[in-house]
Amino acid sequence: MKSDALPAEPRSKRFRFGIRTNLFIGFALLTVVIVALLWLFQIVFLNSFYKAIKIADLRQNAHQIVRSLDDTEMMYEAVAAAAQDSQANVLVADGDGVRLAVARTSLNDVFSQLWPNDLRTLYQDTLAQGGTYFQRYIHGSPVDGGAADIIRGADSLESVLYVYALETAGGNERLVILFASIAPLESTVETLRIQLTVITIIMCLLAFGLAWVISRSISKPIVRMNRSAAELAKGNYSVRFAESGARETAELAHSLNVAAVELSKVETLRRDLIANVSHDLRTPLTMITGYAEVMRDLPGENTPENVQIIIDEATRLTTLVNDLLDLSKLQSGTVTLAPTSFSLTECIRTILHRYDKLIDYQFDFQYDRDVEVIADELKITQVVYNLINNAVTYTGEDKKITLRQLIVEDRVRIEVSDTGEGIPEDKLQDIWERYYKVDKEHKRAQVGTGLGLSIVKTVIDLHGGTYGVQSALGQGSTFWFELPLPKEDSES
Ligand code: ADP
Repeated sequence: MKSDALPAEPRSKRFRFGIRTNLFIGFALLTVVIVALLWLFQIVFLNSFYKAIKIADLRQNAHQIVRSLDDTEMMYEAVAAAAQDSQANVLVADGDGVRLAVARTSLNDVFSQLWPNDLRTLYQDTLAQGGTYFQRYIHGSPVDGGAADIIRGADSLESVLYVYALETAGGNERLVILFASIAPLESTVETLRIQLTVITIIMCLLAFGLAWVISRSISKPIVRMNRSAAELAKGNYSVRFAESGARETAELAHSLNVAAVELSKVETLRRDLIANVSHDLRTPLTMITGYAEVMRDLPGENTPENVQIIIDEATRLTTLVNDLLDLSKLQSGTVTLAPTSFSLTECIRTILHRYDKLIDYQFDFQYDRDVEVIADELKITQVVYNLINNAVTYTGEDKKITLRQLIVEDRVRIEVSDTGEGIPEDKLQDIWERYYKVDKEHKRAQVGTGLGLSIVKTVIDLHGGTYGVQSALGQGSTFWFELPLPKEDSES
């Protein structure tokens, strides 16, 4: 039979990227997203973040100062802390406009214009307004126009002013003024921009490097495996796949190795099959031709014994061909079972009657009761036949064959035991294969076709049953199969 030719090219003609390109693209996208996020937060939103943090900080420091106004020592500390933390200019005065504490951070004193008089006015005005006053300055000019004269010389892009006028718990009139720049320094922004540029370049290089290293570790074993697979496709079953690389590729290589071993087994079996079939066909044919010629040429040889030999050989040929046909039909899946309800026990008894002619052999059938099964009677008969025939062929000197019928839970188990040489443990798996014979040189093995057990296996599989063999060298073999019992029977 001609096998389907493999397509030389992958079926889909669609262009596909390799692993390396895919990884490159993936890493490149990741890098772009990360860098874009960094730029967005560090450069675009920097101003608003910086401002929000700065203002919150300044407010906290202002409250700290307001809370400490009754204790001079603590007040000095709070003023110094505000100047340090928030880079704020701070001025604290009493209700009469006398300066109690001043902290400056820039060279120009932004409060230089505020004389005691101005401070007193500011105190009263602010108190009248509810005790607080807030103003935002852009380039030193108040945003909503008022109180321009409180500060002077502030050149920062954006700054804020907080004024608090209050009477403390200790009965002191106090005026607190804080002024701080809230715009990030141009130099800071510039530093960040340069750093980000460097980070972007490093990230790109890293992404490409990583993609290259990872893709190599993934694609290399695959490329190697592909080469081996091509060899395998050509029919070189000795090729092996290197089980290296990532776990998945190593597992794939392992599975392919198993497949290669299995393929080579099938190949060996196929070769054996052809060799066996031709050998098995040739032997009887040679015998038939030989005897027929002898009988034609020598009238004295025309004896019933010789005719019997021709008949026996022809029968062997028929058996072989029938076995082959049965098996190929069974295995091709074209056979459908014709299940009926019948007595398996009775069926075995009938089969055993046919061996009555073998008077040398001693058959023993042990069972409790008759058991009905639902199965294809003809095929099950063939299974039992094959097992008994093997037992007859391989049993020991005592020519004893024992059959046993057991009920195991919801199944019936049939065992066929002989007292022969047994089967080596390493061959127990193989005997179920088509055309497998343990000892091909053995005289007895030459009688068989090597197909019997494969028929057993296929038929029992079709019935959803199980089968097996227990054997030890020198202690005979017990072949068994189990069939499910009909529901009512297994419950009774
Ligand atoms: P065959 O027609 O050669 O018996 P089978 O498929 O029935 O083919 O059996 C396969 C091989 O299994 C046999 O060649 C034999 O080596 C081994 N075998 C089968 N049954 C027995 C048995 N009862 N005792 C020992 N060996 C057996």
